[in-house]
Amino acid sequence: MISPKGHRVAFEYEDLHPSALKFDKGELLRGLMELCENAGVDMRFGHTAKYGKDDGKNITMQIRGENGEYDIEAKKLIIAEGVGSRLTKVFGLNDGRRFFGTPLICNYTLEGTHDIPHNSWIQYYGDVYHPFTEIMVGESSESEDALEFTVGGVNDMKPDMFFEKLRTESPLAPNLKDAKLIKKMACSVKSYVSLLKPYKGNVLSIGDSAAHIEVIN
Ligand SMILES: Cc1cc2nc3c(=O)[nH]c(=O)nc-3n(C[C@H](O)[C@H](O)[C@H](O)COP(=O)(O)OP(=O)(O)OC[C@H]3O[C@@H](n4cnc5c(N)ncnc54)[C@H](O)[C@@H]3O)c2cc1C
Repeated sequence: MISPKGHRVAFEYEDLHPSALKFDKGELLRGLMELCENAGVDMRFGHTAKYGKDDGKNITMQIRGENGEYDIEAKKLIIAEGVGSRLTKVFGLNDGRRFFGTPLICNYTLEGTHDIPHNSWIQYYGDVYHPFTEIMVGESSESEDALEFTVGGVNDMKPDMFFEKLRTESPLAPNLKDAKLIKKMACSVKSYVSLLKPYKGNVLSIGDSAAHIEVIN
């Protein structure tokens, strides 16, 4: 972490062996998919679970696929729908759950930065960088030289605004003066407090849909 005055707080091993690994999530998912297929799991791509109900004995899920809509019946349901938690809400698990808001996140991949360490995960804190959250800088798999800058925002204060300030006015401006933007990705996150009880009846919610903050940390 780097403070507004440039003080550095580092969590690292003395011999600098890695404390975290970054890998391609697509590869991880391909590997998991293969394991599931080999185990005989019925995989259905391009299908959306639209709605469902739990009558106490059985779950009925309404599915939309390429050939239209149909129902699936099951004894139990595990929801792993990510941070939006829409089905988690349908089954009543979000009742009384605190909603933090919908932050916007933008990830800028830059080449040609100067004097920003690689193989690190750096968070820059303070108003000189961002008024209410940190700027995250980490390794990119795009090229040897590339680094990823993750910048948050909200609806009336878009990440682009803060990125522009970072590039031109912040203490990092000299490090970014020759940098080229080679990729930009964005998402919005519907952020809820973690579920203390992630199950109800025959339904269990897992991963980001149950505990987005815990999974990230
Ligand atoms: C910008 C960003 C950067 C991140 N960086 C990191 C990082 O560096 N390290 C880290 O550990 N974590 C990181 N995370 C968090 C990490 O991506 C999540 O914690 C993780 O992907 C959660 O996995 P999941 O399986 O619970 O949900 P997801 O990966 O979101 O998967 C949910 C899946 O369910 C599908 N789905 C949703 N609704 C339905 C429906 N109704 N019917 C059918 N399918 C549906 C979605 O299409 C998706 O494929 C980051 C997240 C963001 C947004």
